[in-house]
Amino acid sequence: ERAALAAAPLTPGALADGTPVPLLANLGSADGAAEALAAGAEGVGLFRTEFLFLDASAAPTVEEQYVEYERMLRAFVGKKVVVRVLDAGADKPLSFLNDAPEENPALGLRGIRALRASEQILIDQLTALARAEEAVNGAGVLGAGRHGGGGAGERVDLWVMAPMVADADDSEYFTTVARELGIQVAGVMAEVPSSALVADQIFETADFVSIGTNDLTQYTLAADRLLGSVANLQDPWHPAVLRLVGMLGRAGRDAGKPVGVCGEAAADPLLAVVLVGLGVTSLSMTPAAIADVRAELARHTTVEAEALARAALKATSASRARTAVSRLAAANA
Ligand code: PEP
Ligand code: MG
Repeated sequence: ERAALAAAPLTPGALADGTPVPLLANLGSADGAAEALAAGAEGVGLFRTEFLFLDASAAPTVEEQYVEYERMLRAFVGKKVVVRVLDAGADKPLSFLNDAPEENPALGLRGIRALRASEQILIDQLTALARAEEAVNGAGVLGAGRHGGGGAGERVDLWVMAPMVADADDSEYFTTVARELGIQVAGVMAEVPSSALVADQIFETADFVSIGTNDLTQYTLAADRLLGSVANLQDPWHPAVLRLVGMLGRAGRDAGKPVGVCGEAAADPLLAVVLVGLGVTSLSMTPAAIADVRAELARHTTVEAEALARAALKATSASRARTAVSRLAAANA
């Protein structure tokens, strides 16, 4: 019985009715892999690759990147890993990528926009990722199909996504380049409100969407996420943010494609239940938050999560949404 108790926190994420909600880890380098696995992460939902580029005077080579990606992918064999290509600009400036000064960097040449302007950096990164996947999964995997070949448990399931995608054109551009370079599953992050408004068009090319609630909140409420004086507006409980999440969730359901959340919102246990009620199919967070989110999900059925989501959408402010959902949730526990 003691062994069962010790193992209990490592069960996969699921609602009380058994609906699976995979719980994934946000990682900033391969160094966090052991901690994520110990926390019961079912994979990686956001692998930030900026660490390879920050403080560098020139972009890392394909070989330098390949070594890091292979190390990270090997740690998650048998699991899914979602890698985000370089998200430079704004809060993550890079000397060799964003050399023109900008008055409003958060609205400037960042994320996929910066990569489209410096395409070789994107090509090198995707090339290194495809090579790393091939090294881990074995030669001949490319073109065999994601579920083809034997020993599925021995393979890593690599998904790659682009940050700051604004519309269908960004999505088509990124997914086309990624597939040409051998990436089998290519998707986009929903961080700009426009992406939610045209989510159906984005799903024509993207295999999946991952919602970055940190930036989505910043841009929906026009409140700089780095500015303390407007920090009260940087709250993903805001019904305006949640309505956009609901639009993305519905579009994903209509397209039959997954919609994850990888922003800080996924680490707030009650908000995580609301996100699932809005149609989100997986949650990625700092490994330390996984246990609490898993426990809260297990307290609510799908019907209850949807009722919590409706209450949050009806609220007239972030704090009222939080209060309304807390009251309702207490009744489910
Ligand atoms: C986000 O914006 O929510 C996100 C996950 O990306 P980052 O925090 O790295 O901008
Ligand atoms: Mg972001």
